[in-house]
Amino acid sequence: MLLRHTSAETAVEREALTINPAKTCQPIGAMYAALGVHNCMPHSHGSQGCCSYHRSMLTRHYKEPVMAATSCFTEGASVFGGQANLLEALGNIFTIYNPDVVAVHTTCLSETIGDDIPQIIRKAEEEGKIPAGKHVFHANTPSYAGSHVTGFASMCTAMVRHFARAGEARKNQYNILPGWVEPADMREIKRLAAAMGITAVMFPDTSGILDAPMTGQHEFYPAGGASVEAMTSSGDSLHTFGLGPSCSAQAAHLLDTQCKVRCKVMDLPLGLHATDRFIDTIRRVAGVPVPDEITYERGRLMDLITDMHQYFYRKRVALWGDPDQLVPLAGFLADLDMRPVYLVTGTPGKAFEARIERALVGRVPEAKVAQGACADMFLMHQWIKNEPVDLLIGNTYGKYISRDEDIPLVRHGFPILDRIGHQYFPTVGYAGAMRLLELILNALQDKQDRQCPEESFELVM
Ligand code: SF4
Repeated sequence: MLLRHTSAETAVEREALTINPAKTCQPIGAMYAALGVHNCMPHSHGSQGCCSYHRSMLTRHYKEPVMAATSCFTEGASVFGGQANLLEALGNIFTIYNPDVVAVHTTCLSETIGDDIPQIIRKAEEEGKIPAGKHVFHANTPSYAGSHVTGFASMCTAMVRHFARAGEARKNQYNILPGWVEPADMREIKRLAAAMGITAVMFPDTSGILDAPMTGQHEFYPAGGASVEAMTSSGDSLHTFGLGPSCSAQAAHLLDTQCKVRCKVMDLPLGLHATDRFIDTIRRVAGVPVPDEITYERGRLMDLITDMHQYFYRKRVALWGDPDQLVPLAGFLADLDMRPVYLVTGTPGKAFEARIERALVGRVPEAKVAQGACADMFLMHQWIKNEPVDLLIGNTYGKYISRDEDIPLVRHGFPILDRIGHQYFPTVGYAGAMRLLELILNALQDKQDRQCPEESFELVM
């Protein structure tokens, strides 16, 4: 029993203690978003240790070498500020690694010191450390606030602030802010948009970067990612679709105020109805018909749901992770007549509980929702000890509960550190929903096969 010290007793009110948090730190999200820009070097303005941790988390999840530079703070920078370090770093980065873009994010240390990043970037420009035509922009991501999700959102907003410009005329294109999803999900969202007949400008876009093909040639900057030209032209698009309010609403609204590109912010297209809403919003906004290709995909998903429904009925599920994933996922599980009874996120934000309520529309009155610093894996485990569930869905950190309580775990979200392949298979869209259904049912039936008495061990289930 690895978690044998978890008690079932939940009466003690915790205010200042987090045990096994259901989130990670802001710069990881900022770094992931920056990797979705073509020819971009993410830069961590802080100590070497922060950068190493963030890179290693992303490398372990995506199984790709994640490049990032650091201001490499030592005692001097910690006391006198990191301006000299960042100036030197920018000079070195452009000289040695020649990116088109450097995306700087701050850390706890540089924020506590109070480094003024825009002023340092201006000084770097004055000193000729930023070559003509190259870009340096920044996001503030102190990790004593928010989570990896808010770090991702801040970097997306910084991209809009720095790049998006309204030109003379609108272009026949639509912005898609995909939110924090896997590279394969971004690819799938682009495929759906293309199938609907619209031209999409997606940023950030980690497809082709964190799922780049093995070609035998090392590409320091893989071919994927949103180009500077594409992000600049986003100010001329006809509309913005912001997927996942926590990750994309801020950037979508800034595109509106900065460039007068109106936006629709909606859930990630995860599951049947959230994908319906995504497709239908494109249909209405762009005035395009839904092609047969997509209608047939939806039909195949419906057929699979019909085949599997009997096994899902009334199964209790515990979920943890990021709000943008949890909301449509909870709705999808309720659509399947499952019971998403426990929902935990460490990411702060006002609307989470209300969003879950809207997704469940009263179908799971016993659902418990926790959010914030004390909403952690310990609390989730306590709830499970009091009233068990049939299935866990969340990141790798749930494997301890899964083992101790013998509950099947479907890995979904960030980070997944102990399995490989998740970045290649989408879970968004109708096709992604079919993959999710397969994962869920396999997990449930594998346990049934493992535990049932011999006389009930069936060839046909
Ligand atoms: S919590 Fe702060 S100090 Fe720790 S790794 Fe994250 S940014 Fe660095």
